[in-house]
Amino acid sequence: EIDVPESHPRYESLLTRHRIEHGVDLGITSRQGLIAQGRGEAYDYLLGERTTESADRAERAAAAHLLRADHPVLSVNGNAAALVPGELVELAAATGADLEVNLFNRTAERMERIADHLREHGAEEVKGLDADGRIPGLDHERAKVDADGIGDADVVLVPLEDGDRAEALAAMGKTELVIDLNPLSRSAQTATVPIVDNIIRAVPGITEHARALTDASREELERITEEFDREAALSAAEDAIRSGDL
Ligand code: ATP
Ligand code: MG
Repeated sequence: EIDVPESHPRYESLLTRHRIEHGVDLGITSRQGLIAQGRGEAYDYLLGERTTESADRAERAAAAHLLRADHPVLSVNGNAAALVPGELVELAAATGADLEVNLFNRTAERMERIADHLREHGAEEVKGLDADGRIPGLDHERAKVDADGIGDADVVLVPLEDGDRAEALAAMGKTELVIDLNPLSRSAQTATVPIVDNIIRAVPGITEHARALTDASREELERITEEFDREAALSAAEDAIRSGDL
């Protein structure tokens, strides 16, 4: 699909860029999504394009939260759908989570295309199209969710979420797991578990931890979620960026 030699030092980054471009061509990623990707890349570059030890701990904590949850939901936007569709389906299967399409710039067409794209990657049920629930405190279009999806969820994974909506979901009392390469963004700052890592590494990372923890006791899962320190995770990410130690 793409002609970049694997030996290229920025292979992963170029591949990711190509997937986002392809997502725009398919009508699943918005043009705004291209800008968001550019921002993410800048932070990823400063982090050395790797999963830090601290991000790995956050991914383990996120896995434990998803496994402990009564009703976990993975929120999927246009960038997530373009970058990691199959990986999100695998994470949903490993944790018993629902997949829900949830767009900042919501159009019926894009919603359908993303749902189809997820089904092509193995998803059985995709939520988000009913939009019969609302997140309090947001304007009408931004507030739409499925009542039996994010509306009812106790734990939500929101990759690359807009800051306003991240805050509104947190205000509803939901446990929020946020994937965002910018540790200073409001989304990361409001998260119960901020995962400062590229979504292309973070989602498979969470799945790997979830698989390793499938037989863990309720007590062990609770211990992992309780021991996780969100402030330490945010400062570790900021330190990694500032140290310039690539
Ligand atoms: P706010 O400050 O209100 O949170 P924002 O300005 O961060 O909003 P966007 O530009 O939509 O709003 O944010 C996109 C976020 O997603 C950025 O913080 C960016 O770093 C992050 N991001 C983009 N691509 C990726 C990626 N591939 N993996 C992880 N994070 C990403
Ligand atoms: Mg943000």
